[in-house]
Amino acid sequence: MGGYYLYVMYGFEHVPNTYVAGYHKYISLPFMTACYWSYYMASATDPGRLNKSTDDVIKERALKRYGFDEILFSDKNWCKTCEIVKPARSKHCSLCNTCCEKMDHHCVWINNCVGLHNYKYFILFLFLHTGICIYGVTIGLLTAQHLIDEQDLWNKTFYTRNGQHFKADIWIVMQYLQNEHEMFAIVVFLCGVVTVMLIGFIGFHSFLIYNDYSTNEFAKRQQLTKFVADRVAFLLKWEKARDDGKAFKPAQKAIDKYNIGKDIQADMSTELLKERVNHAQY
Ligand SMILES: [Zn+2]
Ligand SMILES: [Zn+2]
Repeated sequence: MGGYYLYVMYGFEHVPNTYVAGYHKYISLPFMTACYWSYYMASATDPGRLNKSTDDVIKERALKRYGFDEILFSDKNWCKTCEIVKPARSKHCSLCNTCCEKMDHHCVWINNCVGLHNYKYFILFLFLHTGICIYGVTIGLLTAQHLIDEQDLWNKTFYTRNGQHFKADIWIVMQYLQNEHEMFAIVVFLCGVVTVMLIGFIGFHSFLIYNDYSTNEFAKRQQLTKFVADRVAFLLKWEKARDDGKAFKPAQKAIDKYNIGKDIQADMSTELLKERVNHAQY
C-alpha cells in the first residue's frame, strides 16, 4: 500500500515519457487492486481451523480427507489445546492457537495460517506481487533511461561540493539520479529486493506443489530422512554382516521409499552405529 502510494507520488510525475506511455498510470490501478484482493482473500479466508467448537461434520470430513501415514501423522495424535484428534496433514498453530487442516505455515505477512482453504490465494498473492514488483522495476528503469537522455547525463561532468569533478560513469549517474529523485529511487530499489525474495518463495512453493508437500511436512520429512538414513545405514551394515546373499528388503524398501542414495552405506564405525541405534526411537 505504502509502496504504491510512493510510486504514485514520486514516480508518476515522470510518466508519460519517451519510454513509458501514459496508460501505464491507469493499468497499474486495477493491477494493484488485484494484489490487494489476493492479500485480503489470503488473510481473511479461514485456512481450515479446527478446534473443540468446530462442527462435528467438519471434523469428521477433515479426518477422512487424507490417510494417516503412521510416520508423520497418526490417528493417535491428540491436540490437548483443541481437544481433537489431529487429522493427517494438519498442525496446531501456536500463534492462532488452533489446529489447521493441511497446514502449510503461519504467515506473518498475511497474519494468518496458510492451510487447506487459503493456499491458492497465498500462491496468487505471491504471483501478483511478483508481477507488480517486476512491473514497478521495469517502469522505474525505463524512466531512469528517460531522465538520463533528457539531461544527457553520460556526457556531463559531475562536481562535488569541494570542487572535485568526475566524468560520468554508471555509479556516478546512479548516485546523481538517487540524489535527485530519492523517494522514487528507494521505491524502485525496494521493488527489486522484494522481487528477488518473492521469486525465491515461488521457486520453493513450486517445488512443494510438485512434490505434494506442505512447508510443515517438508521440514518434518527433512528431519525424518536423516533419521531413516541412519536406519538404512544400520540395516545395510547388518545385511553385510549376515552375508547370506539374500536381498535385504527393509533396507531396500526404505531406500526406495525415501529416495536415499546408496552412497549412504554402512561406513559408520560400529561404536557410532551402536550409539545411534540406541538413541533412535524406532
Ligand atoms: Zn490444536
Ligand atoms: Zn497460525
